Amino acid sequence: MASSMQENGGFGVVQDNYPTIHKSPGEGGPTPNLADYEATRAAFSWDKIREELDGLPDNQGLNIAYEAVDRHVAKGQGDKIALRWLGKMGESREFSFDDLRRQTNRFANLLQTLRIAEGDRVFVLCTRIPELYIAALGTLKHRAVFCPLFSAFGPEPISERVNSGDGRVLVTTRRLYEKKVAPYRDILPNLEFVLLVDEEGGAIDLPGTLDLVRLMQAQSDEYTIGPTDPESMALLHFTSGTTGKPKGAIHVHQAVLMHYMTGKYALDLHDEDIFWCTADPGWVTGTSYGIIAPLLHGVTMLVDEPDFDGPRWYSILQEQHVTVWYTAPTAIRMLMKLGRDLAKQYNHPQLRFVASVGEPLNPEAVVWGQKALGLPIHDNWWQTETGGIMIANLPALDIRPGSMGRPLPGVTATIVRRLEGGGIEEVTAPDEEGELALKPGWPSMFRGYLHNEARYNRCFVDGWYLTEDLAKRDADGYFWFVGRADDVIKSAGHLIGPFEVESALIEHPAVAEAGVIGVPEPTLGQMVKAFVSLNPGYEPSEALKRELLGHARKRLGAAVAPKEIAFEEKLPKTRSGKIMRRLLKARETGETLRDTSTLED
Ligand code: ATP
Ligand code: MG
Repeated sequence: MASSMQENGGFGVVQDNYPTIHKSPGEGGPTPNLADYEATRAAFSWDKIREELDGLPDNQGLNIAYEAVDRHVAKGQGDKIALRWLGKMGESREFSFDDLRRQTNRFANLLQTLRIAEGDRVFVLCTRIPELYIAALGTLKHRAVFCPLFSAFGPEPISERVNSGDGRVLVTTRRLYEKKVAPYRDILPNLEFVLLVDEEGGAIDLPGTLDLVRLMQAQSDEYTIGPTDPESMALLHFTSGTTGKPKGAIHVHQAVLMHYMTGKYALDLHDEDIFWCTADPGWVTGTSYGIIAPLLHGVTMLVDEPDFDGPRWYSILQEQHVTVWYTAPTAIRMLMKLGRDLAKQYNHPQLRFVASVGEPLNPEAVVWGQKALGLPIHDNWWQTETGGIMIANLPALDIRPGSMGRPLPGVTATIVRRLEGGGIEEVTAPDEEGELALKPGWPSMFRGYLHNEARYNRCFVDGWYLTEDLAKRDADGYFWFVGRADDVIKSAGHLIGPFEVESALIEHPAVAEAGVIGVPEPTLGQMVKAFVSLNPGYEPSEALKRELLGHARKRLGAAVAPKEIAFEEKLPKTRSGKIMRRLLKARETGETLRDTSTLED
């Protein structure tokens, strides 16, 4: 990133088109936990957040699973439903906080029996079945490290992660094991125990494996959590691999303060909520907010086993009386593609708050939420490395569609520019792009990249953590995502953020999704090229191409609008649902792609 950032290609063109959505906090629902942004920030301290949690009995430290599960039982909430699970075949199961306490105790005792020690890594490769949640929390109770693997990974990403993470235990299912692990056992020399669940509920009798369900039955359902140093390793999460080889981010038990604080302020969880996070625990969102944060707040969390299915999702919102919903831009764009008429067939008057993370949320999607769901969608920003939500559209704040919102209490964010000779300078003028930077010190900040200290150290410059995302801050303190540093396009002296161009394209009724990249071109340096997938009822044609080019030129101006458009059946995405622009780029330039382990099928 050079200092020519001021030569602004066209940022702000799209955002100006969407009026601010004004909020009347508490209307039709509980008063938001954060009703006054400035006052809450001013009065905030992490010590006060710590006081809202219990800590282990007898001052034995801080353990994520104790706060999430046992604490509620100790307070007399043991009978409340903690987890409602909806299976693929229409079946469902419920676990109260006390059920979860006892099941996770059994799992922790099992690890003890297997002589798994504090800090040992327990990998879990499961679809969203109850055993995944029990293994995650039981692992944390035992002070071992929970390392989730996304169930759709192939054998290579699985073995690479298990090996680099020194996995001693793997919890998985019979089907996944037979297909993806058993043929590769000889390249997993350090993996000692494979604990299997049979999808059909049968007993397991496979060489080199143990029957998890049967072994758990033999364990006691009482377990005393040992002293837990808040700085001890709790979670190992791999990044999405959007920009290159996924990195293993290390998180500690202390992160629980962030999970709790953001569950309270960014997701606005209240006692009676039915909360649904659609992310898979194979990614950080699905663990921080699909397991930990809702349980910390003692709400009922829904888990739906199958993958995305529009009508099913709408009927879950309706029938399960979901009140707070946390999902992702890719899912919202898929729902948009299915049309507003489908959305209108369902009723979910209990739903009061919808949030999204993972990718920039196009302003068109925020507004679609209002029309189709009756609620705007609240974008928020964070990374695997940050462990929790950092910047968000909060319930009590007006929404500026296309903006990521404002930093959470306890979070200091700014925009910086990297200097030629090293070091950085802060960008203080509003609306100027630079790199998004965060002041270290929030509790869920990653404590390292696995086996890559040099890469970790490079993230910190002059007392700031640099995110490698480009953004700007407006005069009122709202942050706007511009693009990943790697994705910004330099064309004829302009710097162009792909998000702006993609957002303009998806305003057109024909366009479902867009991915925009810079293609090397001798006179311009880079030429803006867009790849688009179409909504039902539209077919690729030269006429449509011309129409889209014209639409973009009108919205963005000639300097920023794409010069070329290609139609795609489907855009390449990571398994966590992010558009993989580096694959589009590699295809254009004929380069071979470095790491495709997280590429969707
Ligand atoms: P890798 O680091 O392996 O390339 P990744 O950065 O996609 O992959 P994650 O940690 O899952 O891995 O994703 C974090 C990134 O996702 C952010 O740095 C940002 O680029 C993007 N992101 C997340 N939420 C938002 C958002 N609300 N707006 C814009 N971008 C977002
Ligand atoms: Mg990243």
